[in-house]
Amino acid sequence: MGTMGRQGRPRFRPGLLPCLPCLCLLVVLHSIAFAQADPKTALLERAGWEALAAGRAHDAANTFREAIAGDPKNAELYLGAGAAALLERRDTDARVALEYALTLDSKLSRARALLGQVLYRGGDLPGAISLYETLITEVPDDKQAAATLDRWHREAALNDRLQQTVGSHFTVSFEGPEEAALAERALDALERAFWRVGGTLGTYPYAPVPVVLYSNEQFRDITRSPSWAAGAYDGTIRVPMRGALNDPEELDRVLAHEFTHALVREIAARGVPTWLNEGLATALESGGLEWAERRVRQAAEPVPLDALASSFARFSGSQAQLAYAASALAVGQLIDEAGGPAVVNLLRDLGDGVGFEAAFTHRMQRTFGDFQAAFAAGRKGR
Ligand SMILES: [Zn+2]
Repeated sequence: MGTMGRQGRPRFRPGLLPCLPCLCLLVVLHSIAFAQADPKTALLERAGWEALAAGRAHDAANTFREAIAGDPKNAELYLGAGAAALLERRDTDARVALEYALTLDSKLSRARALLGQVLYRGGDLPGAISLYETLITEVPDDKQAAATLDRWHREAALNDRLQQTVGSHFTVSFEGPEEAALAERALDALERAFWRVGGTLGTYPYAPVPVVLYSNEQFRDITRSPSWAAGAYDGTIRVPMRGALNDPEELDRVLAHEFTHALVREIAARGVPTWLNEGLATALESGGLEWAERRVRQAAEPVPLDALASSFARFSGSQAQLAYAASALAVGQLIDEAGGPAVVNLLRDLGDGVGFEAAFTHRMQRTFGDFQAAFAAGRKGR
């Protein structure tokens, strides 16, 4: 989940960070042998892996479900179903499928690898570490697994040193006593964001949101964010504090941005295009969107929202800044036209698995194509 700076200084990192290792694993997973006795199940299994490799997680989930009906004791099929669920961010389903795969075949290391990612994403760091400790004894050549385990060990060691400030809606963890005053200021900024953003959208998170304040080095190490990132959200709001120490406005802005991501995740764990997620988080930062207007005006060509559906991680700093600016203006327009609660209803539909076009038409009372055309025309007229 990312943010860009108003003066050309990118702020937050694009989303999907916890998914990256999973996707790498899927490449490995895809190269498996197919040893089914039943040709129909074997065909389905192959089709399922091909769908996963092509990023069609929903098709893959359906295909593996059908395959399991024909061969309900096949651990590889549950591995495939778990991988599909993981990509669709149905983490509970992923966990059940992967645990069952391991019940059927306790030596299925690829299921253990994915299950570790599911546990990590759900905040169970000790559980994830335990699985990966077993994993690296099973596949000692897997350098990526070893590197992941090292990083998790460092995070766990740091967590042991962290102190906490607990508010009504957030728990803020920080390392040294010298950070305690900063943690109090962060908590105040988060509470302001809670009421302001929650009020605009007409919804508030149910559970306290965990927040960790890091040194810059710890932040880069644990989140593997690009150097321009000023925060990250992956179930926990993670913020490097050095830059924010001397800049209360920046602290407000970054924490409001990350808080909005936390709220979006609670409303819709999946199915949200990046422009909508980042646009909402950026539009609801404290401060105006004049920088975004300027940035979009400077661009040689308009940016179609269609091109901003997946992670911004692939963009250069300048491209990413334009992507954040266009996304923020588009979502700002949606909030102006339809209201925050309507945007929340759109998110809820997406999280429930309703297709984007249908959900958009229903909740925004116009087609997405119509909105995009009007948005582009509106920008030209400025
Ligand atoms: Zn973001």
